[in-house]
This record gives sequence, C-alpha cells and structure tokens, in this order.
Amino acid sequence: MATKRKNIAVLGSTGSIGTQALEVIEANPGYFSAYALTAGSNVELLIEQCRRFEPEMAAIADESKYRRLKEALEDLPVKVFAGPEAIAQIAELEVVDIVLTAMVGYSGLKPTIHAVKAGKTIALANKETLVVAGELINELCRQYQASIIPVDSEHSAIFQCLTGEGSDTVEQLILTASGGPFRTYRREELEYVTPSQALKHPNWDMGAKITIDSASMMNKGFEVIEAKWLFGVDASRIQVVVHPQSIIHSMVQFRDGSIKAQLGLPDMKLPIQYAFTYPDRLLTNFHRLDFNLYPQFTFEKPDPEKFRNLAYAYYALEQGGNMPCMLNAANEIVVAAFLKEKIGFLQMSDIIETTMATSTFIHHPGYDDYVRTDAEARRIAEELIKKTDK
Ligand code: NDP
Ligand code: MG
Repeated sequence: MATKRKNIAVLGSTGSIGTQALEVIEANPGYFSAYALTAGSNVELLIEQCRRFEPEMAAIADESKYRRLKEALEDLPVKVFAGPEAIAQIAELEVVDIVLTAMVGYSGLKPTIHAVKAGKTIALANKETLVVAGELINELCRQYQASIIPVDSEHSAIFQCLTGEGSDTVEQLILTASGGPFRTYRREELEYVTPSQALKHPNWDMGAKITIDSASMMNKGFEVIEAKWLFGVDASRIQVVVHPQSIIHSMVQFRDGSIKAQLGLPDMKLPIQYAFTYPDRLLTNFHRLDFNLYPQFTFEKPDPEKFRNLAYAYYALEQGGNMPCMLNAANEIVVAAFLKEKIGFLQMSDIIETTMATSTFIHHPGYDDYVRTDAEARRIAEELIKKTDK
C-alpha cells in the first residue's frame, strides 16, 4: 500500500476507543500519524500521550486544565488549546485526513458537524451523534461531500459485508448483541443490580457509559438508529439477535436470501484500523479466531419486557423528528445517576419513557432545535430523578 501517511485527529484520545486508536497508530508509523489529540478532562493522560506521540496540537475540553497542559508541554512544539470550540476547530483542519470521533455522548455532535462541513473522512465511533441528529448529519454529508466510516464493531461488520454489493440488494440488516451481563437475569432481579455488576461486560472492555448502555441494551437501541442513518435501511428491516459469544459482529441478508457475516475476536482495534485503511487492509498481529475454541455459536431473541430501552429506541425512530435526541439526552442523565447510585437499574427506563412523553416534539428539527431539545430533556430527566426516592 504505497500511500501517503494519513494525519489523524483523535477526538477523545484518553478514552477506551481513543487509546486503542493510538495503539493502532503506534503499530503503523509508516501509515498513520497522530496529528491532533483531544480529551475531556483527563489532563495527565493527555500530557503522557502528547509526550509519546508529539502531535501538532492538543486540546482539552475542560478549560480549567489548560494551564496544566500548557506548562507540562512547554518543552515540546505541541500547540495547546482548551474548550469545545477548539476541539471543533481541530476537526476541520485542512491537513487532517481522518477525524476519529471517539468522545462520549452528545459532546461528539458539534465537532462532527465541523468535520462534516470541512468535507472530512470521519471514522465514527461516537454513535450518539447519529442518534441525536442522524438526518441532519446525512444531509450535511451530501452537501459537503464528507464520508463516514463506521468504527462501531456491528456497523463495521455491516459495512464490510456491503462492500462490493450493488445498491438496493439488501433485504435486512442483522445486528448481533452480546446480551450484556444481565442476559440470563429475570426482570425482578434487575431491580437490585449495582453499578459494579453492570460495569462487568462479558466480552468487551469499554468506557463506563457504553458499558451501562450495553447492560441495559440501550446501546443496541442506539445501534439500530445508527444503522438506519449509516446504511439507509428502515427500522423494520433491522433485526437484533442476541449472540452471546460476540464473534459474529453483524450480518446482512440480501434479497436473494443469502446472508453475509463478518467474524472475529472481540477487539475494537480491528474496526478502528479498518476505518483508517478502508478500502485497504493492513497486516496485523491481532489474535486470530480459533474455531476449535468456539465449538458453539448460539442465538436468542432479545426480551423486550426485560430490556425496554431497545423498544424505546425503535419507538423513537418511528416517531422521528427530535424524539431520538430526547432518548439520548434522558439516557445520558439516567446513566450518570445510576452510576452514582441515585436511581436503580430499572428506573433508568422509567425516566427515559416519561422524558420522551413530556419533552416538546419537533417534526423537522434543525441544529438549534437539537440543542434546545437536549437541554429540555436533560432538565426533565433530572427533575424526575429528584422525585425518585431510592
Ligand atoms: P470513554 O468514556 O472511554 O472515553 C470518552 C472520551 O471522550 C475520553 O477521551 C473523554 O475524555 C472524552 N470526553 C468526555 N467528555 C467530553 C467532552 N465533554 N468533550 C470532549 N471530550 C470528552 O468512552 P469510549 O471510548 O468507550 O466510547 C467513546 C465513543 O465510542 C462512545 O460514543 C461509544 O458509544 C463509542 N463506542 C465505544 C466502543 C468501545 O469499545 N469502547 C465500541 C463502539 C462504540 P476524558 O477521559 O479526558 O474526560
Ligand atoms: Mg457496538
């Protein structure tokens, strides 16, 4: 692959995806360079990463950490910035070839819009951006000729299955789900599960928020929404199937009935690297799948009574407009409250449902509407949490 080294802006370099992306970059110095690194508030790790990768730029969202970052990097030629605006500007830099959006939650929306408007190639991990504003992002991508390559393992799998296929040949997308740590629990048992139980994902090691989303299956609901916007397939043709081994990352069924799947050990470095090299593939030393160690692949139907969030995600998609934005905002608030043990596991879904029923519905939202909806839904969810007496 005789190509120029790609300059990568890693937004969210201190997180689970961000640190794995840096491992991919470090393993392939001839192909990638970490041009810019950004973080939320973990200034010490960002400093360490800057010393190791010597990016051109570094930015931290938390402005109170600016001075520490600046002073610690004084001896290096790294340009240092702080605040969400600086991160958004990094996403649109001319010299950046690929923007990896690996920050968590709603914070990803603004820089992703900047990257899209600059016509960038976006390796998208931050699924919340598409949950909140998928329609707007797609419209902007068309207008500014930006392209999005999925990093989420299921969507990377589907993307790989679709490569080389004609348009209009897809019958359905089959998203696999591990089922999370509570797959075999009864609904009554879910009432008393703790954050530390929910944080123990059986197959993947991820950031706290997405790990809770996986335990509650909100993550899979978000992925249904993400798939709709990435692949232009309606929710009625996106099926979720529980596959506890997490080896089949997802599948596509075509109109002749044929099904293609992408398989591999659960390791996010593979979809991250593929998003960087697409349509090429680079040699890796990642562990290879040994079928002898996986004599059984099993499949189950998700239980919508137990995992109501999945049903809410389909409902939000069906309603359209700003409903998925409400879903996301309420979810961010309840996940934070659950992690602080302010509410129980099942109360998360109750609050999400009431927030969606109470927030102001807008049929055709623009960017400012999303900002308002996000704020309103957060306020409503916070008030509902205050009223709970856990
Ligand atoms: P982490 O919580 O591990 O990392 C989040 C990153 O975002 C950190 O670098 C954090 O900085 C940064 N960040 C947090 N808040 C802000 C903010 N307000 N402004 C700017 N940056 C911020 O999350 P993950 O890496 O697990 O997930 C990142 C995204 O990727 C999520 O959208 C998730 O859904 C998606 N994803 C993750 C997968 C995984 O395996 N982890 C798999 C598929 C998708 P700091 O730590 O410095 O505060
Ligand atoms: Mg996923």
